[in-house]
Amino acid sequence: MFNAFNYPKRAMASITELIKIIEREKLNVDTDLVRLAYEFAKKAHEGQKRKSGEPYISHSLGTAMTLARYHLDQDTIIAGLLHDVPEDTDYSLDDVKREFGDDVAHLVEGITKLGKLKYRGIERYIENLRKMFIAMASDIRVIFIKFADRLYNLRTLYALPPKKQERIARETLEIYAPIANRLGIWQMKGQLEDLSFKYLYPKEFSSLREELDKYYSEREELLKHARRRIYAELKKVHLDVMEISGRTKDIWSLYKKLQTHNNDLKSIHDIVALRVVVPTIADCYQALGVIHSRWRPMPNRFKDYIAQPKPNGYQSLHTTIFTDDGKAIEIQIRTADMHKTAEYGIAAHWHYDERGSIMLDKKFEWMQELSKMQQELISDKTYLDSIKIDVFQDRIFVFTPKGDVIDLPENATPVDFAYHIHTDIGNTATAARVNNQLASLDTELQSGDMVEIITDKKRKGPNRDWLKFVKTTAAREKIKNAAPKGIFSSIPGLRRF
Ligand code: MN
Repeated sequence: MFNAFNYPKRAMASITELIKIIEREKLNVDTDLVRLAYEFAKKAHEGQKRKSGEPYISHSLGTAMTLARYHLDQDTIIAGLLHDVPEDTDYSLDDVKREFGDDVAHLVEGITKLGKLKYRGIERYIENLRKMFIAMASDIRVIFIKFADRLYNLRTLYALPPKKQERIARETLEIYAPIANRLGIWQMKGQLEDLSFKYLYPKEFSSLREELDKYYSEREELLKHARRRIYAELKKVHLDVMEISGRTKDIWSLYKKLQTHNNDLKSIHDIVALRVVVPTIADCYQALGVIHSRWRPMPNRFKDYIAQPKPNGYQSLHTTIFTDDGKAIEIQIRTADMHKTAEYGIAAHWHYDERGSIMLDKKFEWMQELSKMQQELISDKTYLDSIKIDVFQDRIFVFTPKGDVIDLPENATPVDFAYHIHTDIGNTATAARVNNQLASLDTELQSGDMVEIITDKKRKGPNRDWLKFVKTTAAREKIKNAAPKGIFSSIPGLRRF
């Protein structure tokens, strides 16, 4: 089973391995171009070594390999190879742009901007989180590169001094993992958490691992047996079983769950589970029926996450049954689509538009997720118990009708938004629509609002009254500068002779 710890260590350092993944996953990627990017990165990082003693290019390759495993697109995989070039070598972003084009350069720029922030206390936390959101808002793929980069760094964390290990592990647990969770990339989330757990709580980690190894070896036979039996029963009714496999619970999430269960491993029923993948939703319910009629289900353990998905979009049927020798085992039933979403999160929802650029399905819905995500991170008591600061207390994110994200100060108005887009739009604004409702120009915008400006070409210029409510310096300056002299001269008292 693939998890954060049995990851093949020695497979990291070769371009052949990367190409192999691209071919195995049948990605629509030009491997010649990938080789070119590899050669470029190798030359740029020539002579550089990681703290672990490996040549630097291993890190670039490892990052790109993770991106390929998660089915990211060609530009992202190439940007993964080049992500540390402008920051750490003599080659610049312009060199990257010249060789690999605007799109790749844009991604590399995004990751460079995220930079090498050090996490120190809440100030840094807020700053860090904000940068993540801004990067995500500009292109979600930047966050995937950051995750892949972090995953590699965690795997080689042993080479760093303890203070750095702790800082990186904590930052991962507090910032990266919650975002991966919100994006529905659970495999990534689990790996980020488990690798961090090891460094943050080494004692707890190793004793739980020991317990788990024992637990698994006791159940291995049982699982194999159950797997064969269930497969046979489903075949009897001619169900097309696409996959039936064991999965183990991630260690960090088990550790947290144990704390609410008196640290009693026996009271937790989903430490191992069998996962059944079938083609359609109807098949899921049929499989459930077959399993329940053959084995006694444990009361109150059935959950229908197909009819009622988890807030992060997860779908599956969960049930716990007693096997023939009386042991409880959890079964998870899902369609291939649900399985793909669970594995790759939002990366499962790419598609290409007619110009060949990458798009996210339901783009706008995802954008709205940003503000939900922010709320969730703030209200997640596990992470931020004592911290009562609104992470975005002084900034809001609003959206254009096309789904672009605009970052504005708190209490900003449609006028600020209009001037942020373009001076002419500000100068000719007459009203606004906020979330498709007509709204006045002094409305205070909230994070997540979709804002549209209604303009009137005949309008001569901005209204001086707007100065009373605008929040951005840019809008203020533009209103002052644009106001035609005529307006001032028409105000009694201001007239000078
Ligand atoms: Mn890196």
